[in-house]
Amino acid sequence: AQAAEANKTYTIATDTTFPPFEYQDASGNYVGIDLDLLKAIAEDQGFKYRLQPLGFNAAVQALQSGNVDGVIAGMSITDERKQTFDFSDSYFESGPIMGVDAKNTAIMSYEDLRGLRVAVKTGTEGATFAESIKDQYGFSIVTFDDSPQLIEEVKAGGSAAYFEDYPVVAYGIAQGNGMKMPLPKEKGGSYGFAVNKGQDAELLKMFNTGLANLKESGKYNEIVAGYLGESF
Ligand code: GLN
Repeated sequence: AQAAEANKTYTIATDTTFPPFEYQDASGNYVGIDLDLLKAIAEDQGFKYRLQPLGFNAAVQALQSGNVDGVIAGMSITDERKQTFDFSDSYFESGPIMGVDAKNTAIMSYEDLRGLRVAVKTGTEGATFAESIKDQYGFSIVTFDDSPQLIEEVKAGGSAAYFEDYPVVAYGIAQGNGMKMPLPKEKGGSYGFAVNKGQDAELLKMFNTGLANLKESGKYNEIVAGYLGESF
């Protein structure tokens, strides 16, 4: 298998817009913590890949149906997903959090969502969390396929709040998207690189070895600090 795989170009799917993990820069290049890590890991381990920015849910579906070899998309390692996928070692801590318009003083807690609408992204941990509390707090849920739509929806007043990963909400706020986080983050899975269960041990091993090497060399810190500053 070793020799046969040597010239293989892996297809890796990712999200379209999930800053600071993946997004297009001003020149249209895909950048972000995930993509910089993947690039450095592939260089370190000597494998080739082609990136497919499909959107989060589409990327997960593409992996499940065998159309791509792996997913790196700020994908949370969860027990449920572990039934279908094998994950690399985790490379970033996350967990969903509620975001609201910075001008909105009415939503301070989940209780304040009663009778209101909340925006989530299809197939995400944030969506699963919102589902898990919606009956208790009496709100309804509307789903969107990408992260920018969540912000637009809340800005336009269609939804009172949105649920999304803490590092992404915090980054958006730091970039001036006009949102705020009234509550602390919820417990959630850390991010991992995913392959189909039992099907790509070799790629997973290269990812893990490369990741460990980047942590050792300081390159991991350099990449993350490049997006989040030294205080991440
Ligand atoms: N971390 C979340 C999940 O895995 C969201 C990922 C994303 O939107 N790219 O469900």
